[in-house]
Amino acid sequence: MSNHHQVLIVGGGTAGIMVAAQLKLKRSNLDIAIIEPSDKHVYQPAWTLVGAGTFDYDKTIRPESSVIPAGVTWIKEYAQTFDPENNSVTTTGATYSYDYLVVCPGIQIDLDGIPGLKDALGKGGVCSNYTDPNYTWEVIKNFKGGNAVFTQPTTPIKCGGAPQKIMYLADDYFRKSGVRNKSKVIFATPGSVIFGVPEFASTLNKVLHRKEINTKYFYAISKIDPERKEVHFRNAKPGDNQCILTEDQGIGERTEGDTAYVIPYDMLHLAPPQSAPDFVKNSRLAHQEGPSKGWMDVDKFTLQHNTYGNVFGLGDVAALPTAKTGAAIRKQAPVVVENLLTLMDTKAVGKGQYSGYSSCPLVTGYGKMVLAEFKYDNVRDSDPFLSKFVDTTKENWSMWILKKYGLPYLYWNKMMKGKM
Ligand SMILES: Cc1cc2nc3c(=O)[nH]c(=O)nc-3n(C[C@H](O)[C@H](O)[C@H](O)COP(=O)(O)OP(=O)(O)OC[C@H]3O[C@@H](n4cnc5c(N)ncnc54)[C@H](O)[C@@H]3O)c2cc1C
Repeated sequence: MSNHHQVLIVGGGTAGIMVAAQLKLKRSNLDIAIIEPSDKHVYQPAWTLVGAGTFDYDKTIRPESSVIPAGVTWIKEYAQTFDPENNSVTTTGATYSYDYLVVCPGIQIDLDGIPGLKDALGKGGVCSNYTDPNYTWEVIKNFKGGNAVFTQPTTPIKCGGAPQKIMYLADDYFRKSGVRNKSKVIFATPGSVIFGVPEFASTLNKVLHRKEINTKYFYAISKIDPERKEVHFRNAKPGDNQCILTEDQGIGERTEGDTAYVIPYDMLHLAPPQSAPDFVKNSRLAHQEGPSKGWMDVDKFTLQHNTYGNVFGLGDVAALPTAKTGAAIRKQAPVVVENLLTLMDTKAVGKGQYSGYSSCPLVTGYGKMVLAEFKYDNVRDSDPFLSKFVDTTKENWSMWILKKYGLPYLYWNKMMKGKM
């Protein structure tokens, strides 16, 4: 196997496979290699449904070998360091050189980011759809009442809507299992709104109200105490405390000192803190300073690296001011493909421009979904064709069917084949 490839892709997840498949469809003779250590390819969007007992976990996973496009070389190793000055990547096995590099190794889950999280997670009612959706379902199924607390971290995360989707489903399930009337459902988020795009926030606020969810803004999770079954929060807006303690509603919340808020839990769902993978963070490909420090430094429209012209980045790892989702990658991949091929042919980057499109299928209960589609600056960007038939700002049964059956089918049969 040669150690030089025309196009080297780091990461064979959603983004890596879409880019490789689209490149191969356009130019079958391209020499492409993917560095990907895992045997398995995961369709993560269905993990929300797995956590609510309405999708089979095994159906979210396929062998990586089944998604690597024909004619693409699979390097089954971990990428470790980048040397963009010399056009090479070193892995656990060797050093590989390239003409063009595409970087998309996803996001890293940082269990050390919250004191107590590592010890608490996966037992005692502390669960996360981001790490083990089967355990989330076990917790929800066996919940007998009390405080069900759902949280969001202060870091960027993949699918920012996922922490609230599982809460809506849990609430629905608790009503079916007859425990909702002896439960308090609490959503504690460091954010100041339920969703960034006003058209969808308006519907979600009504859902929160209808479901009687105690929503706490400016709550930044700071510690988990699994012994006492308590979760600690601090004010997310230092110098201007906007946290509001819930009194007289049977939640048992208390303050400690001036800024710590403590809520007892009977179940706790977390989105753990997340960041760019360490080997990206510590490389020259990452932003070295500023609010995007550690994330891959690409132009937000062309997805070309801001310093190294023959390098592109997309997917969760990229510093793009929009939501990190597979749906976003569906619009990013063709931009990378167009711009890379044009660069190859003309030495100038192509005209492909990514608008910041992302989408969040906000499941609000079994059989209900709001399809939030938007672009940079939180501007609504709903599909015009779909909008002829459905008001996607409202809860719809048809969108639930799309989420449960349509999107998984399209993912495996179209997106992974470079056809969408
Ligand atoms: C619970 C949950 C719900 C979600 N819901 C939705 C949704 O409804 N809709 C939606 O569009 N998106 C959703 N997402 C987000 C979506 O799954 C991700 O945004 C998407 O998979 C990101 O693609 P990626 O290629 O950047 O990363 P990934 O698909 O995670 O792939 C990264 C790949 O890089 C590999 N890798 C890691 N380290 C290395 C290394 N050192 N060297 C080489 N390769 C490496 C990994 O093994 C992996 O295969 C959800 C995610 C979760 C967890």
